[in-house]
Amino acid sequence: RKEQLQQLASVAAVTIDGVQLRLAGNISSIKDCEIALKHGAEGVGLFRTEFLYMNRSTFPTEDEQFDVYRQVAEKSGNHAVVIRTLDIGGDKELEYFSIPEEENPVLGYRGIRISLDCPELFKTQLTAILRASAYGRMKILFPMISSVEEVIEAKQILREAMHELDLKGITYDAEIPVGIMIEVPAAAAIADLLAEEVDFFSIGTNDLVQYVLAVDRMNEQIAEMYHPYHPAILRMLRTTVRAAHAAGITVSVCGEMAGDERSVPLWLYLGIHDLSMSPQSLLRVKHKILGSKATEGKAVGEQCYKLRTSAEIEALLEQNSMSEV
Ligand code: PEP
Ligand code: MG
Repeated sequence: RKEQLQQLASVAAVTIDGVQLRLAGNISSIKDCEIALKHGAEGVGLFRTEFLYMNRSTFPTEDEQFDVYRQVAEKSGNHAVVIRTLDIGGDKELEYFSIPEEENPVLGYRGIRISLDCPELFKTQLTAILRASAYGRMKILFPMISSVEEVIEAKQILREAMHELDLKGITYDAEIPVGIMIEVPAAAAIADLLAEEVDFFSIGTNDLVQYVLAVDRMNEQIAEMYHPYHPAILRMLRTTVRAAHAAGITVSVCGEMAGDERSVPLWLYLGIHDLSMSPQSLLRVKHKILGSKATEGKAVGEQCYKLRTSAEIEALLEQNSMSEV
């Protein structure tokens, strides 16, 4: 079964009736990138850069970062590489950057909040990404966005980084696409406003589920309540996708939900054609897409949307998965 799946690595992810999806990999390192490509990833949909900052005693330099980003860009060839800027805080800590103790770290100093508070640190990373953009198709992704102001401020710092490179005569992709994670409920709610500021959305369902349902994703005691298939999540997804489509920007999903093959009918119904997932999930999800009819998947997704409980939605998706494979 594993070998059969591996044969799908070079096959496009197209439904029986011709709807094509793009499956990219979530990575944290060059090694992950190689594994993702081996599993047929069409580029990198989420490079979690925080791991470059972990297990060391100082911040990585611009050159150190540039070297890693360039290698990932080169390995990915013509495929896009979405680099997410530093997303520490919450559950991810750095030994050499102490964050004062917080009562609610997940609602605290994290993600883009830290980057905007430490603009030099942020600019170093943006400069490294820009330099690497001369070697492949890079895109920049900002995490934990919850307001329009944050996007404007982040883009301003990006422009400064570009200006400094211009002065030095260093080349980069001046048209590099800039996107944001939609993983905070406020961002989903104002997706129409945010869409005017960016080139793409990437929906991070891991955090979105945690924040929408007020269920800590790390808390074992309430793990039973962590429901990606909650009707509230489907509504947030639809609001976000509609805003993206209305503004003519692309929208992808990069949370764990993307790597669950049972979600495929939802993507077909919502009109999401870009997914990014852990390399281990790529072939399973592709197998599901290859065995699906988009017309039928859309109908199942629509039916899900009308259901009232997570249990009913999950049961319907489960039943759909059993009947096809
Ligand atoms: C997410 O929140 O869904 C996501 C993809 O990012 P992370 O899991 O790194 O928080
Ligand atoms: Mg997240």
